[in-house]
Amino acid sequence: MLAYQHAYHAGNFADVHKHLALYATQLALLRKESSVTYVDTHAGRGRYPLTGKETQKLKEYEQGVLPLWYARQALSNKHPLLETWLMALVRAQDSQAKPSLTHYPGSPWWLADSLRKQDRLSLFELHPGEHDHLEAQSWPSNVRHIHVDGLAGLRRLLPATTPRLCVLIDPSYERKEDYTEVAETLAYVARKARHAQVMIWYPLLPAGRHQTLLERARDAGLRKLWRSEVRLHSPGASHGMYGSGMLFFNPPWGLDEVMNNVFTDVVGLWGQEATHRGDWWVGE
Ligand code: SAM
Repeated sequence: MLAYQHAYHAGNFADVHKHLALYATQLALLRKESSVTYVDTHAGRGRYPLTGKETQKLKEYEQGVLPLWYARQALSNKHPLLETWLMALVRAQDSQAKPSLTHYPGSPWWLADSLRKQDRLSLFELHPGEHDHLEAQSWPSNVRHIHVDGLAGLRRLLPATTPRLCVLIDPSYERKEDYTEVAETLAYVARKARHAQVMIWYPLLPAGRHQTLLERARDAGLRKLWRSEVRLHSPGASHGMYGSGMLFFNPPWGLDEVMNNVFTDVVGLWGQEATHRGDWWVGE
């Protein structure tokens, strides 16, 4: 289908949720020297100018990342994760001397930012135009961008040649089969790489299709599935996306506590009705 373009949504609350979770997972992986293969199955463009005409159309970043940018001093004082993440967000801007928020970095940027020489990163993007944007950016030599289907590309990469594997699966869910295909891919990865750390983003929409993904993952017999969900408001209050979910397979130790602490404060910036819930979907 490939109608979706992430530039319309860059920097929204779901991006902040996803990229804080991604960054927290990466920081945990950096505690050990052994090399990591990172895979981003649905990469997008990699970095988005907030002045771009697509992003300006909906201006979702004004409700998402902008309140964190304005509150960055107070947030950094409270949480080490937010301090490091916000410092990285400053690095993603064109000018670091007196930074203003002109760009929002996508998952490839966040992953590449803390890539070490022993790690590698594979970025899959199927949309030709989006892939052109991705290709046009400069990436370290251990980053590959590949213009093929991300879930198939991930399967072909297994088993990874590094001791550790960390995967982000972030489709646009334009087809309802995406939910089942993602769950099937997770089960496949878990069979081929039992210790892989996998993060799956899913939208919370009134139709509730994310439940299929969660139930398929549980019914496949997977264990150690932790989920984090941000809700901006109750499902009935609008037709569109009311929340953002992340499902973690083999989350790093302590991630639950970090996410719960950080999002207690972050959701406060997103309105009075906004909430965060973190819990085990399937325990050990
Ligand atoms: N992960 C990105 C980030 O956090 O910055 C955003 C990704 S966006 C939600 C989903 C992307 O997947 C879009 O750029 C879309 O073109 C791409 N896409 C759609 N179908 C795909 C497929 N089968 N394989 C790889 N990429 C696909």
